[in-house]
This record gives sequence, C-alpha cells and structure tokens, in this order.
Amino acid sequence: MASPQQQARGIESWFMANRRSLPWRSRRSAWRSLVSEFMLQQTQVARVLEKFEPFMERFPDPASLAAADEQEVLAMWQGLGYYRRARNLKRAAEYIMDQFGGRTPLDPEKLVELPGVGRYTAGAIASIAGRRRVPIVDGNVQRVLARLHADDADPSSRDAIDRAWQRASALVEACDRPDHLNEGLMELGALVCTPGVPDCGACPVAAGCSAKQSGRQGRIPPPKRAAIKVEVHHHAVVVRRNGRLLMEQRGDDGIWAGLWQVPTVESKRKLVPSQVSRRCGIELAGIDRLGSFTHVLSHRRIHVHVFRGDAAPGARCVGRTWQSRSSVGSLPVSNAVKRVLEMG
Ligand code: SF4
Repeated sequence: MASPQQQARGIESWFMANRRSLPWRSRRSAWRSLVSEFMLQQTQVARVLEKFEPFMERFPDPASLAAADEQEVLAMWQGLGYYRRARNLKRAAEYIMDQFGGRTPLDPEKLVELPGVGRYTAGAIASIAGRRRVPIVDGNVQRVLARLHADDADPSSRDAIDRAWQRASALVEACDRPDHLNEGLMELGALVCTPGVPDCGACPVAAGCSAKQSGRQGRIPPPKRAAIKVEVHHHAVVVRRNGRLLMEQRGDDGIWAGLWQVPTVESKRKLVPSQVSRRCGIELAGIDRLGSFTHVLSHRRIHVHVFRGDAAPGARCVGRTWQSRSSVGSLPVSNAVKRVLEMG
C-alpha cells in the first residue's frame, strides 16, 4: 500500500493531465462552485452542461438569485429535476445576502449554514474554489477509497462512511493542492474507477490498490439492494376553454413541489374516467382517455393516465388558473407534465 502522500500526488498529477474541460472549471468563483455543486447533486454532468451557463448568465451572483421570483428560478431549473435543490439554492442566496454581505463564503463552517449545503458540498466549495485543506466524500470518492483499501463493507453503513471521511482527510492532509486532489478523486471515480468493472490499467494509484492486488475490484463495493419503487397513478386532465388551458400549482412538499400541472388526481390504483371526473375538482361535461405512459423516479414508478376534459358551462375552478399557450410555456413543469401537455 502506497503512503497517503504518494497516492495524493499520483491523483493530483493524473488529474492535471486528464481532467475534463467543464464550464465551472474554466472560471472559478465560490458562487459558480456553489451553483455547479447544487446542479450536480444526483444529476448527470451532460444535463448540467446544458443548464449551467444560461443559469449563470441570468443569476451571475447571489444578489440576482436572491431578488428573483421563485417561479422564474424553477423555470430556469427545468430539466435538472429534484426541484427542492433550486429552492434551496435561492434560499442560500438570500442567506448569503443577509448574513455574508452578498459574498459566498469559502469557510466550510460558514458554508454549512446555507440551506441545502452539507459536509460534502461545503468541502467541495472550500477546497476547490478556496483551496482549503478539507476533505470531500461523495459516491465516486467513497468507491475509489473503498477499493484502494479493499474495504468491502456496505457503503451506506455509518462505519464505512466514517472510514471514507478519515481516508479522504488523510489524503487531503498529505496532498500538494487540495483542489486538484479532491477534484481528481471525483474525476477518477467518474472516469476510471467506475462502478462495475474499473479501468485499472489507466489508474494512477493502481500500484497501491489493495482491491486490485486481491482481484476484488469488481466486487467492491458490494452490490446495492434494489430500491423498492412505490407504484402510483396520476390521472392528468387536460381542460381547455377559449384557447386557454386550466393549470394548478403543486403544494410546497413532496415531489415536484411548487411546479405546475394540469388538474391531476393521484391514487394508489388506476381510476376509471367517471372516478377521475368526480375527483378532479372541476365539473366536467365530458371526459376522454388520451393515453398513458410511465414516468420513473428514484423511489417511485408513476403511471400517468392522460385525459381530455370538457369543462361544464359555468364550471368553477377554485385554486386553478386559465393560462394562455405562451404563459404555459414559461411555467415550471416536470418532464412528466411536459409529456402530458404534448399529448393533450
Ligand atoms: Fe479503482 Fe482499479 Fe484504481 Fe483500484 S486500481 S483505485 S480498483 S481503478
């Protein structure tokens, strides 16, 4: 096993030679790092690449995001999913304005005060934008470290997580540049030490890797138990009147919080049209089924059944609004609702 210093130097040099060119790397600032880290949580880099620069152009600093309307922020976030992050990012910008005079902090203890910022995100911003000597552990980093140490424990166990942070701390203490080390660890996990079969031939720390030496790199970490997905049914009713579409906003909690949709009845079972009509909250003169599709989220499988409804003359639409075609286009909606609108 190589020393932490040898491992750290190997990863730093490899990163400098192999790093991908990404927009948040080309121009560094604490604010750009904060936004990119929020976007990258549970989201693929390719998707963030489409959204990052337009978002930064509109919200170049905490002041612009703090002053923005939340609906606009959610609309700019569209396509990234997990909309709670967008709301937390806006709240973080407000906190930066109130508490830090509009300057995004680089001190990890201050960063964790921000809504939506945990130990990993604080460490990433402090080390990458501020070159502070603090560790980071995300899924990629934890996998690399577990393999280096041939640690075959369940990565979700408390002990395994604690060991990963200790190992990451030892490396960052021993490294030359904390920014290169931490980004290098993440990049190594993303490009070389990948889930499944890693590309050990391209790895800068292969000589000191215990999993490789024992031929167990494909079995560390142990496979996850498949997450159980809850099955739910969403019955979406497209109702038009005089060229306008009836829309409602989801509540503040749960999936797609604060996003817009056509009137939707959620249930554990599939409903027949007459049940949808009775429960959709607007009096309908008729209802037709247009089709169905399945939308899969990390813990949920949503069967979306799409209907076209005719509003009864004088029907009351409490809590909903009639929106023109152009205004619907600027409302933040989930990808599932986008598909509903295409069908209706
Ligand atoms: Fe991962 Fe292979 Fe490198 Fe070990 S040698 S850290 S298993 S890529």
